[in-house]
Amino acid sequence: MLDVLVIGGGNAALCAALMAREAGASVLVLEAAPRAWRGGNSGHTRNLRCMHDAPQDVLTDAYPEEEFWQDLLKVTGGQTNEPMARLAIRHSSNCRGWMHKHGVRFQPSLSGTLHLSRTNAFFMGGGKALMNAYYRSAERLGVKIRYETPVDRLELDRGRFVAAHAGGERIEARACVVASGGFESNLDWMREAWGQNEAGQWPADQFAIRGTRFNMGVLLKDLIAQGADTVGDPTQSHCVAIDARAPLYDGGICTRVDCVSLGVVVNQNAERFYDEGEDFWPKRYAIWGRLVAQQPGQVGYSVIDAKAVGRFMPPVFPGEKADSLEQLARQLGLDAQAFVKTIRDYNAACREGTFDHAVLDDCHTEGLSPAKTHWARPIDTAPYYGYALKPGITFTYLGMKVHEDTAVRFGGQPSPNLFAAGEIMAGNVLGKGYTAGVGMTIGTAFGRIAGVESARAAMKSGATFAPA
Ligand SMILES: Cc1cc2nc3c(=O)[nH]c(=O)nc-3n(C[C@H](O)[C@H](O)[C@H](O)COP(=O)(O)OP(=O)(O)OC[C@H]3O[C@@H](n4cnc5c(N)ncnc54)[C@H](O)[C@@H]3O)c2cc1C
Repeated sequence: MLDVLVIGGGNAALCAALMAREAGASVLVLEAAPRAWRGGNSGHTRNLRCMHDAPQDVLTDAYPEEEFWQDLLKVTGGQTNEPMARLAIRHSSNCRGWMHKHGVRFQPSLSGTLHLSRTNAFFMGGGKALMNAYYRSAERLGVKIRYETPVDRLELDRGRFVAAHAGGERIEARACVVASGGFESNLDWMREAWGQNEAGQWPADQFAIRGTRFNMGVLLKDLIAQGADTVGDPTQSHCVAIDARAPLYDGGICTRVDCVSLGVVVNQNAERFYDEGEDFWPKRYAIWGRLVAQQPGQVGYSVIDAKAVGRFMPPVFPGEKADSLEQLARQLGLDAQAFVKTIRDYNAACREGTFDHAVLDDCHTEGLSPAKTHWARPIDTAPYYGYALKPGITFTYLGMKVHEDTAVRFGGQPSPNLFAAGEIMAGNVLGKGYTAGVGMTIGTAFGRIAGVESARAAMKSGATFAPA
């Protein structure tokens, strides 16, 4: 009998598959996507947040455990599990050697990826190259991979994994790792989760999904129906403000609009609604999708002037460009009078100190609500630019409640042979909010743990291992 069945084909799945195989287990990976689209959201990534106590190859300075933990605590507003979070953080300090062994290469942070050279290790060639390296290594070690095999449901016996059902086929294994992502690609489920707002709109109808179309949450739903313990709120997700022209799926990183902290953001009524300079962009970018989702029509408009150009990574679509604020308002479809008043009020409230986008500088507003607490400079230098924004969902946080061993739990009891890793359990660490690169930290840490635990479970149930 097969020792370990891994369901999913992204980072968490491949980390689990490689670790289980290295432990000597026979491993089969079932990936819903065709080969060309393999790798899930992981194929879209760029970097991994890493703890380190001293400079390392591509990481500058130090990023100690406590600072990483405090960052996580702050962005989640305390909605995190400390032992799980600390486990992932510590794991990030020593996983890169293993990644390197499996063909992953790193590079220093790209210019324009603000402030990340200390905290985040960038993958050479991005997430696509990382996933290709893992697949190559897995195949070399004898891991079997089947594409276009979406699993429909799991057959369980009182919390014990028995078999997976995929398109009428029944696949038995001694142990199983579910690493099939969140449910963000399932638009009906997103609609149901977000419901209708007070104005009778369905916010989720305006969402775009930044990554794969294959994370339909089929097994998440199946496990919930079978009584697995869950964690997280279905409306919580990593949700970014992206260019309103982005495609429904797989727009990826280049549709993100990264100039929010350099200007102001207004809604359809040409009103500001949040502090654009609250904190460094990598610590704040993931809240802006949700903020836009809460605005009328689920749209926002990011507005900058000529002074901001060259200070952020430009999105793939050019912004609207105009020589006057009135003209920009017309191009964006906003009420020109209301828009100009908002900008004038903001400009008048700016107290310019020493502008420095690399630190939390002293340029702020006074007497304005909402305030802009850093990087507040008047929008007064033509040409002006505006980008229409909509919410871009990266991944959802509703998932399996697990402990450090990643065993799926039923009524508080751990399954002896069913484990969860990656987005499907990220909600244990991320109750809300996000800090750049931590998705891959979570997937790598718990994917590798799930691989070891599933191999151990298979061995307990009688597997005899052949070394990889
Ligand atoms: C545009 C973008 C940029 C990002 N950038 C970063 C970054 O730089 N750093 C970072 O840390 N995080 C980043 N993230 C988040 C990151 O992608 C996720 O946190 C991480 O990839 C999750 O890994 P995973 O293996 O759990 O999920 P995924 O990589 O999404 O893999 C899930 C897999 O499950 C498969 N699957 C789904 N359902 C089934 C089924 N029923 N049967 C079989 N297979 C199934 C899918 O096809 C897919 O292969 C980014 C995400 C996006 C979309």
